[in-house]
Amino acid sequence: METKFIKINTNSPLAPQLEDAAKIISRGGLVVFPTETVYGLGASALDADAAKKIYAAKGRPSDNPLIVHIHKPEDAEKYALVPPTYYALAEKFLPGPLTIIMPKRDIVPKNVTGGLDTVAIRCPKNEVARELIRLSRVPIAAPSANISGKPSPTSAQHVIHDLDGKVDMIIDGGECDIGLESTIVKLDVGGATLLRPGAVTPQMLSEILPDLKIDRGITEKNETDKAPLAPGMKYKHYAPRAEVTLLVGDNAECAEYINSHVKNGDKIGVLCFDEVADMINGGNVVRFGKRSDGKAHAKALFSALRNFDGTDVEKILATAVEPVGIDLATYNRMLKASGYTLVYLNK
Ligand code: AMP
Ligand code: MG
Repeated sequence: METKFIKINTNSPLAPQLEDAAKIISRGGLVVFPTETVYGLGASALDADAAKKIYAAKGRPSDNPLIVHIHKPEDAEKYALVPPTYYALAEKFLPGPLTIIMPKRDIVPKNVTGGLDTVAIRCPKNEVARELIRLSRVPIAAPSANISGKPSPTSAQHVIHDLDGKVDMIIDGGECDIGLESTIVKLDVGGATLLRPGAVTPQMLSEILPDLKIDRGITEKNETDKAPLAPGMKYKHYAPRAEVTLLVGDNAECAEYINSHVKNGDKIGVLCFDEVADMINGGNVVRFGKRSDGKAHAKALFSALRNFDGTDVEKILATAVEPVGIDLATYNRMLKASGYTLVYLNK
């Protein structure tokens, strides 16, 4: 199919610019749109056939549920059985980069939720996303707008690379602010569990959810046959073409390791903190931001991994971030991108 492409002009009203996109959604088509986290591949969340097209365009396994995007936090009532905790979270964090899983209502087709009895609800903050949902008059089911297994897209160029010709429209709204997918929290009778870390950190959540459980799969490889709580977590994820190795150590240790490997003449890509980059001679180096700058790491990761795909590097050495705050989210994606390949340099 031919993909229509529009670029948002932030200096003029959004509604006229998004009218065509909203029509495509309400007629059962596919539209890629920007959010504050990553780009989403959207279709009507109330239309089972439209949802099927999302799985086909991405090559996404059918048991990996989609997130349902709503215009206003209170719209959740229409699609989920909403406990009081939802409103406590909504008051503090919505609209924003937080997805909340609750028991679903029948109006949401089963293929949107990968066959589960629960539905993931998200109210994004990005104005283009919100206006598109409002004009479409339906909630929008959307996973990240990448081919399954690849790093999530944080710019329209990433989306064009993966999905041009496979969707009806791509909306270019510039670079995503955060650069990593939303935090996912599951609410059930047993309490709340963090399934995927994001920009809303465990520390922030614990003010509302003092007993928040943290799914072990966030920092540990699932070695058992037990199905993970978020089905998407079991699939290969965020993987660039080249193999990724994570380096755990201080700046000097990381620089020494990188310098000794770059010297071997291998085709090596390096993703490292600014402090480390300043000590490296050679290699294809991408800066990750300062070691202490968690927001910069989140924003840089997927874009850096995709850029290496466009080069001849065969190996990527990346300095590991600490698993705290927003860096916990970056660490989780780095673990998956590397297939849990870590080198401990600490002396
Ligand atoms: P993506 O939109 O590509 O970031 O993927 C959505 C993530 O949310 C995947 O990891 C899904 O497995 C997870 N997810 C969506 N709905 C549910 C649900 N009802 N229960 C558990 N995990 C879910
Ligand atoms: Mg995804």
